[in-house]
Amino acid sequence: MKRWTQQSMVVLLLCLALIAVTILSAALVLRHAGHQCIGSGCKVCDQLRHTGHLFQQFSLLETGFLIATILFIRSFLALREAVTQGRNASPVRLKVRLNH
Ligand SMILES: [Zn+2]
Repeated sequence: MKRWTQQSMVVLLLCLALIAVTILSAALVLRHAGHQCIGSGCKVCDQLRHTGHLFQQFSLLETGFLIATILFIRSFLALREAVTQGRNASPVRLKVRLNH
Protein backbone atom coordinates (compact mmCIF):
# COMPACT_ATOMS: atom_id res chain seq x y z
CA MET A 1 0.00 0.00 0.00
CA LYS A 2 2.88 2.34 0.77
CA ARG A 3 4.34 1.74 -2.67
CA TRP A 4 0.96 2.52 -4.23
CA THR A 5 0.86 5.79 -2.30
CA GLN A 6 4.33 6.78 -3.51
CA GLN A 7 3.40 5.95 -7.10
CA SER A 8 0.20 7.94 -6.74
CA MET A 9 2.16 10.93 -5.47
CA VAL A 10 4.56 10.73 -8.43
CA VAL A 11 1.65 10.51 -10.88
CA LEU A 12 -0.08 13.39 -9.13
CA LEU A 13 3.06 15.55 -9.25
CA LEU A 14 3.55 14.80 -12.95
CA CYS A 15 -0.05 15.71 -13.67
CA LEU A 16 0.30 18.95 -11.71
CA ALA A 17 3.54 19.79 -13.53
CA LEU A 18 1.91 19.21 -16.92
CA ILE A 19 -1.07 21.32 -15.96
CA ALA A 20 1.20 24.10 -14.68
CA VAL A 21 3.28 24.09 -17.88
CA THR A 22 0.13 24.19 -19.98
CA ILE A 23 -1.35 27.08 -18.02
CA LEU A 24 1.94 29.02 -18.09
CA SER A 25 2.27 28.42 -21.85
CA ALA A 26 -1.23 29.71 -22.43
CA ALA A 27 -0.49 32.74 -20.22
CA LEU A 28 2.70 33.46 -22.18
CA VAL A 29 0.84 33.33 -25.48
CA LEU A 30 -1.94 35.57 -24.18
CA ARG A 31 0.52 38.03 -22.62
CA HIS A 32 2.60 38.53 -25.76
CA ALA A 33 -0.13 38.11 -28.39
CA GLY A 34 -0.36 41.87 -29.00
CA HIS A 35 3.37 42.68 -28.92
CA GLN A 36 5.13 45.26 -31.09
CA CYS A 37 6.10 43.00 -33.97
CA ILE A 38 9.17 43.94 -36.03
CA GLY A 39 8.16 41.69 -38.92
CA SER A 40 10.18 38.81 -40.24
CA GLY A 41 12.71 37.43 -37.81
CA CYS A 42 10.76 38.60 -34.76
CA LYS A 43 12.01 36.62 -31.79
CA VAL A 44 8.73 37.02 -29.89
CA CYS A 45 6.75 35.59 -32.81
CA ASP A 46 9.16 32.65 -33.03
CA GLN A 47 8.81 32.02 -29.30
CA LEU A 48 5.02 32.26 -29.52
CA ARG A 49 4.99 29.82 -32.41
CA HIS A 50 7.15 27.35 -30.50
CA THR A 51 5.02 27.77 -27.41
CA GLY A 52 1.88 27.13 -29.45
CA HIS A 53 3.36 23.89 -30.79
CA LEU A 54 4.41 22.91 -27.29
CA PHE A 55 0.94 23.72 -26.02
CA GLN A 56 -0.64 21.47 -28.66
CA GLN A 57 1.75 18.62 -27.85
CA PHE A 58 1.09 18.94 -24.13
CA SER A 59 -2.64 18.92 -24.75
CA LEU A 60 -2.32 15.62 -26.60
CA LEU A 61 0.06 14.30 -23.97
CA GLU A 62 -2.25 15.32 -21.13
CA THR A 63 -5.20 13.63 -22.78
CA GLY A 64 -3.23 10.43 -23.29
CA PHE A 65 -1.80 10.61 -19.79
CA LEU A 66 -5.24 11.13 -18.28
CA ILE A 67 -6.68 8.18 -20.18
CA ALA A 68 -3.72 5.98 -19.23
CA THR A 69 -4.02 6.99 -15.59
CA ILE A 70 -7.73 6.22 -15.50
CA LEU A 71 -7.17 2.83 -17.15
CA PHE A 72 -4.33 2.05 -14.74
CA ILE A 73 -6.39 2.92 -11.68
CA ARG A 74 -9.41 0.95 -12.93
CA SER A 75 -7.30 -2.13 -13.71
CA PHE A 76 -5.54 -1.86 -10.35
CA LEU A 77 -8.85 -1.72 -8.49
CA ALA A 78 -10.25 -4.64 -10.51
CA LEU A 79 -7.09 -6.69 -9.81
CA ARG A 80 -7.22 -5.86 -6.11
CA GLU A 81 -10.85 -6.89 -5.91
CA ALA A 82 -10.14 -10.13 -7.79
CA VAL A 83 -7.28 -10.96 -5.43
CA THR A 84 -9.42 -10.17 -2.39
CA GLN A 85 -12.26 -12.36 -3.61
CA GLY A 86 -9.85 -15.14 -4.57
CA ARG A 87 -8.22 -15.04 -1.14
CA ASN A 88 -11.55 -15.51 0.61
CA ALA A 89 -12.81 -18.17 -1.77
CA SER A 90 -12.76 -21.82 -0.79
CA PRO A 91 -15.02 -24.71 -1.77
CA VAL A 92 -16.58 -24.73 1.70
CA ARG A 93 -17.17 -20.98 1.73
CA LEU A 94 -18.53 -21.06 -1.82
CA LYS A 95 -20.69 -24.07 -0.86
CA VAL A 96 -19.45 -26.17 -3.76
CA ARG A 97 -20.68 -29.74 -3.66
CA LEU A 98 -17.79 -32.15 -4.26
CA ASN A 99 -19.18 -35.50 -5.37
CA HIS A 100 -15.98 -37.15 -6.52
ZN1 LIG B 1 6.49 39.53 -33.66
